[in-house]
Amino acid sequence: MTSPPIRERLSPNRDSRGEPPRIDALVLHYTGMQSGAAAIERLCDPAAKVSSHYLVEEDGTVWRLVPDELRAWHAGVSCWEGGRALNAVSLGVEIVNPGHEWGYRAFPEAQMAAVEALCGDLVTRHRIPAHRVVGHSDIAPDRKADPGELFDWPRLARAGIGIWPEPAAELARGRGRAVGVVTRAEALSHLARIGYEVVPGNEGPPLAAFQRRFRPARWDGRLDAETAARLAEVHAAYDEVRHNLARARRERFNAYRRMN
Ligand SMILES: [Zn+2]
Repeated sequence: MTSPPIRERLSPNRDSRGEPPRIDALVLHYTGMQSGAAAIERLCDPAAKVSSHYLVEEDGTVWRLVPDELRAWHAGVSCWEGGRALNAVSLGVEIVNPGHEWGYRAFPEAQMAAVEALCGDLVTRHRIPAHRVVGHSDIAPDRKADPGELFDWPRLARAGIGIWPEPAAELARGRGRAVGVVTRAEALSHLARIGYEVVPGNEGPPLAAFQRRFRPARWDGRLDAETAARLAEVHAAYDEVRHNLARARRERFNAYRRMN
């Protein structure tokens, strides 16, 4: 798929990524405002102190607000795979949607096609690994719910953007049942090893973020049997991707050594 034409409206809300600069994560958001125009104004308002690299309107128009090589201010206090403050190492894409506050609604086809093309280009160009394509709620579950349970993560995964294993059919049978103590500890360990920050005593928010993304039928933050089974399944998929990437890196390194 070719990347869409991009319009430009540069935001002053940006600074240096630091040295050495590194881009290895992609964070997807919804704007959570009443219109796309209002969102662009806010993301370019020096007083608001927020921004993103790109914004995708509901009709599929794509705006560049901050160049990739600079740090945009979209993630805030955040954590993924133990790494904090993701603004320094990530690209941020804002997707226009009123969000839960103003009337959350489905993302139109034209918008999703543009998101898919843009994100496909970004992960390819910057070699962003699939396990580091995240939603804002994944990295800040206490504060954020975006892009939310209506976002089509399976579609992006089919296009090679992020990870979304198809749920096994037997998962649904456990729906609603509670899980035991040992299983609970195991399930929370899956959650942490996928990449979520899990603070003892406050497991509800990261569980809800996981559900919004991987079991979007219900996102109550309760560890029911279906969620526990899904956690094991998603963790296995993430580990497989990480394992394959590590092996590919080793093979490239060995080929390089043989040549030199
Ligand atoms: Zn956000």
